[in-house]
Amino acid sequence: MDIRHYTVSLSVDPDAKNIKGYTEISLLLLQPANTILLDLIQQMKVEKITLDGKAIAFSHERDLISITSGTSFTAGKHVLKINYAGQPPVAKRAPWEGGFQWEKDSTGNPWIAITCQSEGGKIYFPCKDHPSDEPNEGADLIITVPKGLVVAGPGLLKKVTAQKKHTTYHWKTNYTISNYAILFNVGKYKVVRKEYITVNNNRVPMEFYVLEEHADKAEHLLEIMVGSAHVQEKYFGEYPWVKEKIAIAETPHLGMEHQTMNAYGNKFRYTQVGGKDFDWLLHHEFGHEWWGNKVTNRDWAHMWIQEGICVFGDAMYVRDAEGEEAYLERMRRTARATQNKLPIVQGEEIDAKQTYHPDIYGKGAFFMHTLRYIMGDEIFFPTLKKLATDPQYTYDNTVTTDDVEKLFSSAFGKSLKPVFDLFLRTTNKLDVQIRQTDTETFNIRLANAGMPLPVDISTDKGLERLIVNEKGLEVKSKTLPVVDPKGYYLKKVTFD
Ligand SMILES: [Zn+2]
Repeated sequence: MDIRHYTVSLSVDPDAKNIKGYTEISLLLLQPANTILLDLIQQMKVEKITLDGKAIAFSHERDLISITSGTSFTAGKHVLKINYAGQPPVAKRAPWEGGFQWEKDSTGNPWIAITCQSEGGKIYFPCKDHPSDEPNEGADLIITVPKGLVVAGPGLLKKVTAQKKHTTYHWKTNYTISNYAILFNVGKYKVVRKEYITVNNNRVPMEFYVLEEHADKAEHLLEIMVGSAHVQEKYFGEYPWVKEKIAIAETPHLGMEHQTMNAYGNKFRYTQVGGKDFDWLLHHEFGHEWWGNKVTNRDWAHMWIQEGICVFGDAMYVRDAEGEEAYLERMRRTARATQNKLPIVQGEEIDAKQTYHPDIYGKGAFFMHTLRYIMGDEIFFPTLKKLATDPQYTYDNTVTTDDVEKLFSSAFGKSLKPVFDLFLRTTNKLDVQIRQTDTETFNIRLANAGMPLPVDISTDKGLERLIVNEKGLEVKSKTLPVVDPKGYYLKKVTFD
């Protein structure tokens, strides 16, 4: 089953903390099937389902809607419409443990946010809840809220319809989108706008759905966002959604990478990077427009591609604003924070919760740092940009760790699989063994690299980049050699 399009049409009642409406799903059956399965959390009550306009029997158990045909459904295109209502789960600890947040702003207006990266879109609309199947033709969100409130959503705002007591917002994206980004935020928002000109000279509207009470802070944050956008585009290519918009919505939770409407909840707390205000949360979530939204893991097992490379993009901002030394220091801090309790890639098909641990961020980013050192900037940076821009890795085409490995290996001209395996699929560090063989002679070997690797070695003659393998390399020095002093590898060094 290939999902083509979602329309989610809901009426939102902030007092009753309730939603009610329908979801229409266009899908393609690649072969005839007796049963169609959809994910929808049990506490949503399904009232009716039609298939191609005709009511059809279904069951809804254990968060699964099962629609069965006595004769079997034909291969080809079908349209399912599911009417449902209920109280969606309330977030326990958004954005990490997601759900709905029914908050109020400081003046008492409803302020509603949804997060469901690990829980999936199924917490509030029926969907095929797997990262590998994004709707190829995009999604429509038609959301009705009490009058006076504003709905922020993905894509373009097609229409706002005012009724007596309610307002309906119709948002539409024509791009592929992850189901955990097909959602909306509601608040007493003001929209502050600016125009952004991309690296390829396209004009894209930049919008901030900011709570009215913080509207005076919006312009400065958009300025900061322009700075972030320039750095992301420099390394990863043009902003991915130029036909729609760059936007953020102020949320009661910290933030999330909601495509073309990033959630922003960092409360305008800036740090100084390169002598300028910088918002790490804004920069990071914005980086997910490339890593996560445009380049998407085919399965949660490969989530480090989204988080690790996105965090590497955060370090690129530091590099651009403060130089290589500041970047190296940041990477050394990242190395010290690595936990190494679980591998970053634990298998080929793993659910979101099991995959999610801190090392997919920091150790994933550090792995990019290691690759950069091994490959050299002339090969590494264009290859990374290719991963973010080549059609075979972007939009409709999802990626796995193997895809990334093959791309980098072919650019390098030599298989990098041993390095990918060591740092991503095990918790082992690079095993560097130094043995003194004579008064001023040392043997340095990499016991578990699986391939010869370049290593910086500092001796009495200074710093040299040498190729070291399993057998070892003889180094002459009056002083004890220091291996990898700048910290390009996660390593364990033993002296014998
Ligand atoms: Zn992230």
